[in-house]
Amino acid sequence: MKTVAFQQCINPDCRSTFDIGQTLTSCRHCGEFLDIEYDWSKAAPPARLRDLQQRWTNRRFPLDYSGVWRFRDLLPFSADAMVCTIGEGQTFLQNAACLGRKLGMWPGQLWLQYEGMNPSGSFKDNGMTAAFTHARIVGARRVACASTGNTSASLALYAAQNGFQGIVFIGSGKIAFGKLSQALDYGARTLQIEGDFDTCLARVRQVSGQLGLYLMNSVNPFRLEGQKSIMYRILESLNWEPPDWIVVPGGNLGNCSAFGKAFAELHQLGLVRRIPRLAVINAQGANTLFRMVNDGLTWNGGRVNNALIQSHYARLDAENIHPHTVASAIEIGRPVNLKKALRALDIMKGVVAQVSDNDILEAKALIGRFGFGCEPASAATIAGLRQLLASQVISRNERVACVLTGHGLKDPDATVQYHTGIRTKDAQMPAAEPTWGSFANQPVRVADDMHAIVQALGMSMDDLEGSPRSGYVETAADLPFVEY
Ligand SMILES: *Cc1c(COP(=O)(O)O)cnc(C)c1O
Ligand SMILES: [Zn+2]
Repeated sequence: MKTVAFQQCINPDCRSTFDIGQTLTSCRHCGEFLDIEYDWSKAAPPARLRDLQQRWTNRRFPLDYSGVWRFRDLLPFSADAMVCTIGEGQTFLQNAACLGRKLGMWPGQLWLQYEGMNPSGSFKDNGMTAAFTHARIVGARRVACASTGNTSASLALYAAQNGFQGIVFIGSGKIAFGKLSQALDYGARTLQIEGDFDTCLARVRQVSGQLGLYLMNSVNPFRLEGQKSIMYRILESLNWEPPDWIVVPGGNLGNCSAFGKAFAELHQLGLVRRIPRLAVINAQGANTLFRMVNDGLTWNGGRVNNALIQSHYARLDAENIHPHTVASAIEIGRPVNLKKALRALDIMKGVVAQVSDNDILEAKALIGRFGFGCEPASAATIAGLRQLLASQVISRNERVACVLTGHGLKDPDATVQYHTGIRTKDAQMPAAEPTWGSFANQPVRVADDMHAIVQALGMSMDDLEGSPRSGYVETAADLPFVEY
């Protein structure tokens, strides 16, 4: 297949291009980041987006089944035979009507894109399938990443299934045990080095450059190509009518960058008429994007004010500030995709908010109470949405899609501590009181005795005979609207 794809520097004063047969994480000339670009006059973009959804019915062909590759016409960099897919992206946009009502939104306007349903339990699989495909194209054997957890879990899974050796670097900071257990189980060589995620990533970039390891972090532009598909699936679920808002947590900022690129391309190709707005949510303890945007940093046509970024990082160093949040997946102080994220904010008329750990945990519990599971970082979306509704940046009648980035079972310690106050050995909760939250659902100690059980259930001995009396049954919809 004659490829129509190439790599291109994002710096408007450089714009160097490179063949996709090269393994690069930055421009050889100016050091800026790269995009994967396509010559759409040679590619065959779909005439209508809805033509792509038919493919899903052809489930026995892995590329058509994949929630990433059934949109392959929008990321045409690989021959079909080279694609590494394990059926990622079978994820759904769920209408969260009750949760939306609890947040004061108009009926039916809140949607949750449930990316925890991916094979390794996070959205990272969308990107890994694309990056592993490129790794196969260039003949790589060893693949590496730095990770707060989910990247390593996903890398380890794809490496094991596709015949690569996986190598993961985790910092000495926090990692949720669900995630660590995956990397270990899938047989990745796991190195724990001293320092936080930012240190770890800087080191692994150096190591992989020198040892020829294929780097799987989101500095790899192919990762972002796969992550564009999250937007395609949201559109597909809404019958190709864009929502008003996309809300996503911001860590290393690869995901929001990919979303911006997805919509820029769809718009350029005339496949969508309207681009949704973007809300990126930082944790207060890891709020580089929030601060930088408030300090006036913008994409500025690609001529980003580097001095402003450098002075922010110099201040973090001088004051010895390290990122700190219960949402370990977004505990990142130096987001590598900062500039691409600024571009996404520009394309999607975006906003950035920051939320406290307490808000994140309360939002997570609320999401859970309505029957949707996610890890703390993902819940930053709902915490951020609450704030943006309160400040009327987002209106109550607008249609909002929040990306739940990771599965609830990734970090059970955080959940158990929230509900019980019990600080498990590995829980990464803030030590501050209160130790449990407003929606805490504590297990009840009860004797092995029928009377005691009936009483604990708030029922009566009469209920034992025949069918229970019809009476008041509490459901999630009855939850008090707790201000936190
Ligand atoms: C990686 C990750 C994030 C952060 O995504 P970025 O692309 O780095 O901004 C958020 N939530 C979860 C669950 C993640 O695994
Ligand atoms: Zn360049």
